[in-house]
Amino acid sequence: MTNDALKQTLQLHRLEGLCRFSPEQIAILLHATRLGEDALALALLPLARQKAQVPVSGFRVGAIAIGGSGHWYLGANMETGGLPLNSALHAEQAAIGHAALFDEHHIEKIIVSASPCGHCRQFMHELNQDSLMLVLPDDHFMLDELLPHAFGPADLGQSCGMLNSPIGSLGQQNDQQPTAQDLACLAAQAEANASYAPYSHNRAGVALLLDNGHICRGRYLENAAFNPSLGPMQLALSQLFLQGYGADQIRRAFIVEASADVQQYDAAARLLGQLSAVTLDRLVL
Ligand SMILES: [Zn+2]
Repeated sequence: MTNDALKQTLQLHRLEGLCRFSPEQIAILLHATRLGEDALALALLPLARQKAQVPVSGFRVGAIAIGGSGHWYLGANMETGGLPLNSALHAEQAAIGHAALFDEHHIEKIIVSASPCGHCRQFMHELNQDSLMLVLPDDHFMLDELLPHAFGPADLGQSCGMLNSPIGSLGQQNDQQPTAQDLACLAAQAEANASYAPYSHNRAGVALLLDNGHICRGRYLENAAFNPSLGPMQLALSQLFLQGYGADQIRRAFIVEASADVQQYDAAARLLGQLSAVTLDRLVL
């Protein structure tokens, strides 16, 4: 199926511009395109790729995470000019982080336009699932084929995975509750509680309040190998771009994080500061 034919199909069913598809929407597209699931996902990758932010490399990567609920989540790589290369977010991370924000507990498949780098293989290993299939344009693999003899959560005594760790209770143990009317701050707190920080215990969440009242959210997703950890601001900004917004629409920004030896605020403020003049408000609980 050509890109133009797919675009027409999406327009016909009022599905253009989406970065997330429900099982019902996928059923409509499978029927309309007569494609199989993998072929449809590969055909949708250009939609993800066009959301990429690549001021450094110019190399766009798109990914789709298919969650256990049947929802499909798009992801794209995101680079930030002016910052070191390790501030970049990879497409697979963006797609899995996207699924995490919608409380998926299992990923069935990752569809990606280029072979996953070692960083992403390590990041995906933190899902701590029995198996994970990776679908590429011309091939498919199981994650353990691409990452044999892996180091992961079990080596650090963790039995849960990135999408199924216990919910935290930040903000419920003391009087430092954010004001009830501040929905964005409450959203950041909720994301901090839902974040995954088994190694540092630095639960953290970010919320970006936009000029139209919409809130883009991000949560911290930690990794046993530390470096592939996904920061809450990275995920919130990835959501901003995936949803079709721009950094100039950010009006308020909040980070809520746990008091721990590791802190997210400086890195998050530096990342936000490259894209927006808005001050990052911080709440440590
Ligand atoms: Zn990667």
